[in-house]
Amino acid sequence: MIVESQLAPENAIVRDTVDAGDYYLKTIKKGQTVRILDLEGNQAADTLFYNANDASERYSAIDTVREQGNVYLTAGTVLMTNDCNPMLTIVADTCGRHDTLGGACATESNTVRYALEKKCMHACRDSWLLAVAENEQLGLSKADITHNINFFMNVPITADGKLSFADGISGAGKYVELTALMDTIILISNCPQLNNPCNAYNPTPIEVLIWN
Ligand SMILES: [Zn+2]
Repeated sequence: MIVESQLAPENAIVRDTVDAGDYYLKTIKKGQTVRILDLEGNQAADTLFYNANDASERYSAIDTVREQGNVYLTAGTVLMTNDCNPMLTIVADTCGRHDTLGGACATESNTVRYALEKKCMHACRDSWLLAVAENEQLGLSKADITHNINFFMNVPITADGKLSFADGISGAGKYVELTALMDTIILISNCPQLNNPCNAYNPTPIEVLIWN
């Protein structure tokens, strides 16, 4: 569902650019709104969320899909935690659909999906592991890297229930915007993946904006 934002970029309190292959870590206070902006189009922003006051509570794809009765995420979706608490709500979306089933790229899955020699290529899971290692104060370990959302990624379900990785439906300047319903840690891996048709084999930067 396409819903445009009423928020003006010049009023944002945070405005950061994240290059492809980098991670982005930030705490969003309850009531604040975060926008993830696809600057050049068809980029995949692989994102994890944690309760900032108790990181053992985290985003749950299963609870979110079950509670809304739909596998696609868009405006109106309430992101649920593994304790079935509402965590964030998608308040604006100019892309129209985001994936939470396909999972993130990892060096191991890249060898299966593409070719054995892709093992050495940087992957989203590496970026998250680096974030966990560089931010010990969060108390996270690799066991906490679980369900994620692939913002801007197109993973349509076929009529017989199969997952298909398709060309992206996002474009330059499209965005998704979420309002936090609890203090939330956002951990984005801006996907470095050079083999993924979803970003047209060309990983590009994203922008993150936050409003009070
Ligand atoms: Zn990735």
